[in-house]
Amino acid sequence: MSQDLWGSVKTVLETRVANQTFQTWFQPMTQLAEDQEVLTLKVPNQFFYDWMKSHYGEIIQSTLAEVSGRPMRVEYSIVLDDSENQNQPEPFYEPEEPVVKQQGFESNLNEQFTFSNFVEGPNNQFAKAAAEAVVNSNDNNMYNPLVVYGGVGLGKTHLMHAIGNAYHQFNPTKRVLYISSEKFTMDFISAIRENKAGLFSQRYRKTDLLIVDDVQFFRKKERTQEEFFHTFNDLHMNGKRIILSTDRPPGEIGLQKRLTSRFLAGLMVDITSPDFETRVAILRQKSEESGIEMPYDVIEYLATNIESNIRELQGALIRLLAYSSLAKSDINLQLAHKVLMDITGKMTKPIVSMEDVIGQCSESFGVKKDDIYGKGRKQEVALARQAAMYLSKELTHNSLKSIGLFFGGRDHSTVIHACKTIKIKMDEDDIFNAEIKALLRRLSGPVMRS
Ligand code: ADP
Ligand code: MG
Repeated sequence: MSQDLWGSVKTVLETRVANQTFQTWFQPMTQLAEDQEVLTLKVPNQFFYDWMKSHYGEIIQSTLAEVSGRPMRVEYSIVLDDSENQNQPEPFYEPEEPVVKQQGFESNLNEQFTFSNFVEGPNNQFAKAAAEAVVNSNDNNMYNPLVVYGGVGLGKTHLMHAIGNAYHQFNPTKRVLYISSEKFTMDFISAIRENKAGLFSQRYRKTDLLIVDDVQFFRKKERTQEEFFHTFNDLHMNGKRIILSTDRPPGEIGLQKRLTSRFLAGLMVDITSPDFETRVAILRQKSEESGIEMPYDVIEYLATNIESNIRELQGALIRLLAYSSLAKSDINLQLAHKVLMDITGKMTKPIVSMEDVIGQCSESFGVKKDDIYGKGRKQEVALARQAAMYLSKELTHNSLKSIGLFFGGRDHSTVIHACKTIKIKMDEDDIFNAEIKALLRRLSGPVMRS
């Protein structure tokens, strides 16, 4: 059979990218049309398209030009191909019983964790999109397994449940099972002890979607790995879906080679630490969920000081709610500060407001407060203002930009310049140095201002 143009392009592409990449991203596309200028390819879904285009759009384009020997464009068309998949026989599998709502089948899913309350940020966008694509796809072989990896408290378990819940919602007759790898291991051990290994494997092999959380836990548990390997193969062969999470890339867990290579044959997506804006969005969402009005400065304060981990962020929020109801006090910065000190056990940046800084500088430099905010360029005013900017940068949790805005709508580069000027002057002038240090001490002293 003669190849179409896309077939020829693929033959070249196959020699240029890793095999896994080829299978995952090029093989699923087929040619829809071809004319003098345009090659049109069929792609299975939006997620696939976005990722493929941004990563491989160029190599496809240039390979196409090479193969066809003329300048050509590639166009993509997203075709959701239900009919093809629906008619596929379920290979080797027992006829499907009409299980209503997974009767008699415990899914272990926690309904609280959904896609809709999973806040999206640059750190988890791809993982979330892949997860949604898995749920929406009729093709069970696409991204199978899906492996989500990332550090603690970054939302892997949340995402695992969200996938299970959504899948169950769309496929109410299918069986979903969520299990942590600890639980899998424990169940396996007791099954062996009770001579029920057969029942054990039946249970797992009956699922349509098996979600195993934290597979790094299988490390050094050779027999459990072996059992899981067989479960995995059985499901995979029968076109059932498998979703896994791990705290590090699958290749680095130290599992048996054959198991690792199964994982690597799927789609790997990572979740990293959320940036400041995502942390703020998560805090807002969590406080809304609990029906609490959370002042924005408190949210910003928490998001600034807890950087790595969403579980801690949420822990701080819960504690804050508890403190405020116990102490019958409002949720404010002071309370947030106290909570953070309890949690981290170390001094966080003290809460100093820029008003505090200006007040102290005004006193110490003998300059009116209004002048510090103002535009005046008289030397002692300018110096007091620069010192106030420097102290704000050192002591408050405001960004350079907001410090600039606060000091009479100045640019952030003005703040940087001010900080440099003050540091140089502190180096050169012992008396000035002592004055600034005294201000620093006074402002960040043990007494908390309100
Ligand atoms: P992991 O399994 O990676 O250790 P979890 O899924 O248990 O992390 O997440 C810890 C907590 O943070 C959970 O309460 C979860 O709901 C919350 N969380 C994590 N990521 C998000 C997110 N993107 N949006 C909303 N909540 C999140
Ligand atoms: Mg987890």
